[in-house]
Amino acid sequence: MLDELKTLVELQLIDSSLNEAGEKLREIPKAQRKLEAEIAAEEETVASQRAAVSAHEKEQRQAELELKSAEEAVKKYEGQLFACKNNKEYEAIKLEIKENREKISSIEEQILVLMDKLEKERQLLGEEEKIFLEKKKDLEEQFASFQRQIEQEQGKQENIRKKRAEIVQRVGKNLQHRYEKIARARRNLAVVGITETACKGCYFQLPPQLVNEVMKNDSIQTCQSCGRILYWEKAD
Ligand SMILES: [Zn+2]
Repeated sequence: MLDELKTLVELQLIDSSLNEAGEKLREIPKAQRKLEAEIAAEEETVASQRAAVSAHEKEQRQAELELKSAEEAVKKYEGQLFACKNNKEYEAIKLEIKENREKISSIEEQILVLMDKLEKERQLLGEEEKIFLEKKKDLEEQFASFQRQIEQEQGKQENIRKKRAEIVQRVGKNLQHRYEKIARARRNLAVVGITETACKGCYFQLPPQLVNEVMKNDSIQTCQSCGRILYWEKAD
């Protein structure tokens, strides 16, 4: 194979693997952002359950305060019963006691319902927090593994770039310029093989005499349709 052509094929291989590495480096952060969003959504679900529990706890504390004040009222009125001066006053105090006792039993019932609800909610929250922590750990491990992949890809890219610089030295300015121009116009693919009849870059049917020339691999030939540099892959 013509040396220049061989070097161009090498350059194309290098650039294709650089593109691939670049593609990976663009994809990984996207996957990482997806993981972060997943963690945030899970966190939000647990937080809203935690908020519901603390609202019910507050409700319970409030009910306990009301219960205490109703119980104190009963005690206070019971003390006053003995100091009554007349029947009317006695009846009025009796009524206060009755109303407060009713209040006490209604609050006690309310507290029981709340305690029952809270017990279930706390249990559920505990289970979900545990699941969340496990899931978070798992997602964070995935994130870290993506991070390692990024570093690997960056290392790979650096090596490929060094190799590319060496190859470019060998290509020579004119041919390099020609190569870059085609690559820019043709999605980073400037050098392609051919089938027995067509360019593998655009699948244009090449005239038989051009195919014959390309098969010799001893000159720089280009596709009449896409302008890419052609070579014969099966040659040694
Ligand atoms: Zn072509």
